[in-house]
Amino acid sequence: MDDIKLINYHLQIQASCPHCDEKIIFLNKDIPEKNIIYRTCKSCKSRLRVKPFNVVVEVKKPNKPKDSKVATHSDSTKKQDTTLISQARKTITSYGFSGKEVDRILRTINYTNMNLETLIKATLSKMDQNEQSTT
Ligand SMILES: [Zn+2]
Repeated sequence: MDDIKLINYHLQIQASCPHCDEKIIFLNKDIPEKNIIYRTCKSCKSRLRVKPFNVVVEVKKPNKPKDSKVATHSDSTKKQDTTLISQARKTITSYGFSGKEVDRILRTINYTNMNLETLIKATLSKMDQNEQSTT
């Protein structure tokens, strides 16, 4: 599953005058983030100090439990093995061996930790042994 990409966000901060409860609204770029700014209340004309806000909007990193991570990992390993086998099968059958024969030998090979090349070599060497024993 793919994550969304954060492009932009809109913020509105509502504050109010402590004397008359007149609403003071800050939008996006008007929100002070570094320096103190001063506003005059529209209603009671009080001078008001606006301290900067700490505005942080970011996509949180997923906090997955360890168990699910392990499960995902083993899933991907399984998938990799299937592709490895099918890739090896494709390559070896392209050499002119029958798919049935390749499948039979692939089943006898413990291909854990093998890369494609090693797996193909191991399969081919077993093929040779078989041919020698039949002739
Ligand atoms: Zn006021």
